[in-house]
Amino acid sequence: MRSKAIITSALPYANGEIHLGHIASTYLPADVTTRFLKLRGVEAYYICASDDFGTPILLQSEKEGKTPSEYVTYWNKRDYDDFTAAGIDFDFFYKTSSSENIQFVQDVFKKLDAAGHIYEKEIIQFYCSNDKKFLPDRYVKGICPYCKAADQYSDLCESCGRVPEEIFDPRCSICGATPTKEKTTHYFFKLKNFGDSLSKWLDENENLQKDVKKYVQNWIKSGLIDWDITRDIVWGVPIPLDTAKGKVFYGWFDNHLAYISTAIKFLEDKGINGKEFWNSADIYHFIGKDIVYHHYLFLPAMRLGINSEYKLPDYIPTRGHLTLQGKKISKSRNWYIGLKQFLEYYPADYLRYYLVAINPYSQDDLNFDWNEFTNRINSELIGNVGNFVNRALGFTKKAFDGVIPETEVHDDKDKEAENRIKNLST
Ligand SMILES: [Zn+2]
Ligand SMILES: [Zn+2]
Repeated sequence: MRSKAIITSALPYANGEIHLGHIASTYLPADVTTRFLKLRGVEAYYICASDDFGTPILLQSEKEGKTPSEYVTYWNKRDYDDFTAAGIDFDFFYKTSSSENIQFVQDVFKKLDAAGHIYEKEIIQFYCSNDKKFLPDRYVKGICPYCKAADQYSDLCESCGRVPEEIFDPRCSICGATPTKEKTTHYFFKLKNFGDSLSKWLDENENLQKDVKKYVQNWIKSGLIDWDITRDIVWGVPIPLDTAKGKVFYGWFDNHLAYISTAIKFLEDKGINGKEFWNSADIYHFIGKDIVYHHYLFLPAMRLGINSEYKLPDYIPTRGHLTLQGKKISKSRNWYIGLKQFLEYYPADYLRYYLVAINPYSQDDLNFDWNEFTNRINSELIGNVGNFVNRALGFTKKAFDGVIPETEVHDDKDKEAENRIKNLST
């Protein structure tokens, strides 16, 4: 353990409310870890930002008649307020659409380009002649070519977690029509070049979860494909080339760079040398298992591509999904509990205690069960912990006027108790 740490959690997509699933897999484990490190005397900072760009946000803001900028400003504030109500204590919460991040992303792209990791290629892209626009990512739905799950977005299969090379039976997600194919020039990141160095990094890093490493290594063995980092849409970080007018970066090119740009902004505002701090700190990226591909391959490859100017993560704690009464959470099927709504009924500490208590150190799923929640809060949090604190405080008040007295005798029994407490925290 180093004396400094930067902790990030997967950036909340500025496109809908935070629910219990988000909290369980990412934000609460990161918050608890940060608090623990701070108590141990580590100079630790918990950094996060809203993920503001991309097609789903553009699509939804169009539907609501807002500008994308107005739309993400609302969700940035709402997310932050909900997190705060749940006791998630960020040192800094910013946004991927910040001028600092846009500048940083463009600089990284230029460095990758200069190092020969970028190439341009004319590709065939889905185009909807009804809507008169190119249809990247979520503008197209279809069947996943790997696991054959239906109704999956073309940029991520939510069923198997992979990024489809080409989706089967494509449909325009705005009007449902079968799209046509048109030519456009796109920029690609040579992920293929990084297979060996990624494999070596995974092997050498003992702190990464073994269960995740194993299947990421299998992906590498089965062959990586280069990443199309371009989108023909108006909402994103502009690609800084004269030949790329009107094109922006794919959200997964810019969003994880905000871990760095946001940390640097926060540190420099405090008068600390950001890069120096980053490179001498333990770096934690907390994620849910649905974005393993992006964090174990894409993110490290991009850092390797700029000569590890900002060091790679030491830890990528990867958590499973929360199920609700044994069933998968689904916003579209209205099977979820919004964080804000939950906190209207119960104190944040109930939620925090229960989710921490059931969270395993693995990517196995965890289940929220109302009966178990009631029992554990009543018997453990209130019955055991609450009672213990209440009795100790009550006794102190009654017997010592509310002031803890100096120790008179420190015998073997006291030492044994002290040792047991100390060993719990290491
Ligand atoms: Zn799939
Ligand atoms: Zn259409």
